[in-house]
Parts: sequence; C-alpha cells; structure tokens
Amino acid sequence: MYGIDADKIVRCKHCDAEIVFVLMEKKGGKPRPQMPINIDGMKPMVVMNNARTEGAIRWVGESHYSTCPAGIARRTMKEVQK
Ligand SMILES: [Zn+2]
Repeated sequence: MYGIDADKIVRCKHCDAEIVFVLMEKKGGKPRPQMPINIDGMKPMVVMNNARTEGAIRWVGESHYSTCPAGIARRTMKEVQK
C-alpha cells in the first residue's frame, strides 16, 4: 500500500488508525524526531521552489498528532501496536 513496507505500518494504540513514523529533518544538534503520519490521505504532489520554476514529486501526508480523536500527547504516540 502506498509503496510502504508492510512492517513499517503500525496502528495507533489509542484510535487504531494506520500510521507510519517518518524521520523528520534535523534541527540544531538534536536527534532527528519521528512524526506519525496517517496512511489514509497520503498522496504524491509536486513541491516547488519559492519562484515556482522548479519542482519535484514528493509524498505528502497529515500528522496523526492533528487528527487522532484521542487527542493524545506526543510522548505516548510511540506506544503503538502492530
Ligand atoms: Zn490515534
């Protein structure tokens, strides 16, 4: 599904939604954080430079932090089940 390895897809233990954890870009000297992204709604889109003269196709998705009906805290999100 969506070209994602099946073993990378996990379920939110709070609402059972299928999510995948994505390594985010590095900021400062901190380790790269992981962001849970909803599987549903992922789609390829064109991202562009500010002048909109160059682009590339990249996948986009919505953070599960903003959609989980349980309104869970970030620290508990990593407690997921297969
Ligand atoms: Zn959830």
